[in-house]
Amino acid sequence: MREVLMMRFSEIHLKGLNRPYFMRMLVERVKEAVQNVRGHVWLSDSRVYVSDADDMDEALRRTRKVFGVHSVCRAVEMDKQDFCAICEQAVKLLQGKQGTFKVEARRSDKRYPMDSMEINREVGHYILEKLPQLSVDVQKPQMKLYIEIRDHAYLYSEPLEAAGGMPIGTGGRATVLLSGGIDSPVAAWMIAKRGVTMNAVHFLSPPYTSERAKDKVLSLAKILSESLCGWNVHLVPFTDIQMQIHERCHPDYTTVIMRRYMMRIANQIAKREHAQALVTGESIGQVASQTMQALQCTDSVAMLPVFRPLIGFDKQEIVDLAKKIGTYETSSLPYEDCCTVFTPRHPATRPKLAIIEDGEAKLDGDTLIGDALLHTEIIRV
Ligand code: ATP
Ligand code: MG
Repeated sequence: MREVLMMRFSEIHLKGLNRPYFMRMLVERVKEAVQNVRGHVWLSDSRVYVSDADDMDEALRRTRKVFGVHSVCRAVEMDKQDFCAICEQAVKLLQGKQGTFKVEARRSDKRYPMDSMEINREVGHYILEKLPQLSVDVQKPQMKLYIEIRDHAYLYSEPLEAAGGMPIGTGGRATVLLSGGIDSPVAAWMIAKRGVTMNAVHFLSPPYTSERAKDKVLSLAKILSESLCGWNVHLVPFTDIQMQIHERCHPDYTTVIMRRYMMRIANQIAKREHAQALVTGESIGQVASQTMQALQCTDSVAMLPVFRPLIGFDKQEIVDLAKKIGTYETSSLPYEDCCTVFTPRHPATRPKLAIIEDGEAKLDGDTLIGDALLHTEIIRV
């Protein structure tokens, strides 16, 4: 008898012939997640297991973050032939509890001498005998006790929700424009959840943005890195570009022009990272640069498809997700972003492409972009 973590996976069930590939990737990701606590990982009969980790609580916390895992339960693995021991263990799991319960048995080993109904009944009786303060409610029990008969018997009380989605590495590569704000870390998490390997671009404008603003972005990248399996953050110096836009272009258009430069540079970095898409944290109408017309102007310089997973989200919905994934607190630290440094008083909400192009013609575009890329720092988080 020993404790194991038993994982169910989400959508991989839907994969036909590709299923072995997705399973292999999932097992790899789980192995990486528990390697620091030296967990032993294996796949058997549509479940992934972890055993013998130095710290099972830590292994549980980590496996719940692995994309592709739907739920994790802390189960007791035991000899399925010893039915008395199974009954005893069931009592142990409910000891000290009050209220109603239900036993829910599943039998994937169809040669097992008892079927699920019999197991439910027998174990249920035994529990009632030993723990008379409990009663059975099969409709709406307060507690469930699960028994799965597979290669062994597995007993557990509550499966815990995990990240869901698909294993990282199965969905291509994308480059996220990562600010220090609330939205873009959530956007990165959402795309990564679909199995996409991510890397990030962050624009900074020293001395207008401080060292602490840079540390903030790296902290956010670190929080996400556990779910994202580690990623590269490209830190791009953006001061010269912003200064020149500020000096030479119409003040109402500086934001949209700046955003087009961000897109152009992110495209180049995506190419270096072999990424197939860009990701931003924009949602329609949230600020002036996120009106339909402004988004159209930014997109027209993007060579890759731009994914905006938050496009239809309200701010509160984004905040809720940020809290769930653990980035909200850090995102709320008050350090400045390069976008907030030169904000125009009346940013154009319906920018005209002709005026933008007129403004951009006054800039040393290629030189500015070349310099920014040359001085980009890459940090592996
Ligand atoms: P966020 O909360 O993600 O900062 P926001 O509501 O502040 O978003 P904007 O400042 O208009 O919106 O930025 C829109 C998007 O542009 C961000 O979601 C992000 O993808 C990208 N972005 C903004 N600033 C930066 C930056 N300094 N570096 C990289 N990407 C940025
Ligand atoms: Mg921002």
